Amino acid sequence: MITFVPEPHLLDSPRGREWPVLPATRAAVTPEPPPGADVVIVGAGPAGLAVASALWHHGVRDVVVVDRDGRPCGRFFDRVDLLGQRVLRSPYEHHPGVEGYRDCELLDFARLHWSVLTPVERREIRMAQAGHRSVVPVDVFEAYCRHLAASHHVTERTWRGSVREVLPTSDAVTVRADRFSVTARHAVLCLGEERRSAPDTWWGGGHPPRGVSYWDEPVPPGGKRLAVVGAGLTAAHLISTGLAQGREVHWVVREAGERYQCADVNSSFFRPEGRARFDGVSWSDRLELMGRFRRASIMFEFRPMLEAAEAEGRLVVHRGKAITKVTPGVALHLEDGSRVPVDHAVLALGTTPSIGDGLMPDDAVLDRGGWPQLDERTFAYVGAPRVFAVGAAAGMALGPAARNIDGHRVATARVAATVAENLRRDTPVRTAAKDHARV
Ligand SMILES: Cc1cc2nc3c(=O)[nH]c(=O)nc-3n(C[C@H](O)[C@H](O)[C@H](O)COP(=O)(O)OP(=O)(O)OC[C@H]3O[C@@H](n4cnc5c(N)ncnc54)[C@H](O)[C@@H]3O)c2cc1C
Repeated sequence: MITFVPEPHLLDSPRGREWPVLPATRAAVTPEPPPGADVVIVGAGPAGLAVASALWHHGVRDVVVVDRDGRPCGRFFDRVDLLGQRVLRSPYEHHPGVEGYRDCELLDFARLHWSVLTPVERREIRMAQAGHRSVVPVDVFEAYCRHLAASHHVTERTWRGSVREVLPTSDAVTVRADRFSVTARHAVLCLGEERRSAPDTWWGGGHPPRGVSYWDEPVPPGGKRLAVVGAGLTAAHLISTGLAQGREVHWVVREAGERYQCADVNSSFFRPEGRARFDGVSWSDRLELMGRFRRASIMFEFRPMLEAAEAEGRLVVHRGKAITKVTPGVALHLEDGSRVPVDHAVLALGTTPSIGDGLMPDDAVLDRGGWPQLDERTFAYVGAPRVFAVGAAAGMALGPAARNIDGHRVATARVAATVAENLRRDTPVRTAAKDHARV
């Protein structure tokens, strides 16, 4: 049997190249959003961008997007660039453009910019056109997100603010940020994920000791020996950057071995039949499915490079050994009693969904083992029907692909249609709330 292993050179797309600029996109003209709106979206990542674009197509234009950073998809590209990631893991079919409204598809957008693409990138477009797996340059995806934000007037409806509270009532939702508040008919939480912290047992909890950092923090230059802890794509990027800098990299993988896979999760979860496995099954079955299918893995493109580095001794892989302790200086203590002394250690322990706890009252989130209780069809919070979730927080309703760009598309289609329908239905109440907010 022939095994197709895509080549590592597919990972090397240029980053930050000159891109034809879009007609001037206006940022929000006022420092603060209006006090009232139809919908507030918290989070301007790929999920928030997808929701705002879909609402625009549904004719819902009185939308306020609030994001800590205020830049559409800002955190996503900051994280990707920090890791030196040049291509997405998801194919051309997965993008925040709105289904059913003839939005320019990511693939067509890339073809429109043929002149700035490399021969390798052009061949990947041909692969996608032929229905094969394809690799998308981050540059192309970033320009596409900018195109969506401009063409759906999202940038001018986005304000920088750190949301502290989301207070739902029976007919409105008040979103309180650090500098302003907005009261709206509905809120959509597109909060994304935070990094998973190390167990308290490693160094007693709190900030990591000197010489230890997390994947979403810069790795300090210098130092001969680098340790990377984790088995996912993020770890692979950190390792390949360390090797490219000439460092001796120690890779600690708790599992018996690293796993290679095309997509983040089993690709069936990007299709209706995969998602259907989460429909109507018990909570414990969903948790079991999530545990079985939301597991760390690496794109195949990395395999030849990592295996060669290990064979040459530049990469030392500590397989099947969990970390028990991390001591300053830095030393990683493994469960077999061995010690791995390094100059710096980077932890890529995965992510946890931001579900709205800490923002909304507990009886709105109804947190169950780290997951909110959502309506399976509309993704509305069961405890706060005017608040919706799109992104990782919708995992238990949509399946493990909820955190991914394609999962956003599926959730967005349902949430935007529901919100638009609700707004159409309760127009009279809405005018009252807006007036209330304007008083
Ligand atoms: C390095 C990396 C690479 C990835 N690559 C892919 C890929 O190739 N394909 C794929 O399908 N998926 C990928 N993913 C998974 C997923 O698509 C990304 O995590 C994506 O960023 C999720 O989009 P999001 O909008 O849900 O969250 P985010 O992009 O994280 O956006 C959430 C936004 O909400 C803001 N926010 C959160 N809380 C508040 C608050 N209280 N107040 C104000 N703002 C707030 C955050 O600051 C952030 O800007 C990747 C993830 C990572 C980390």
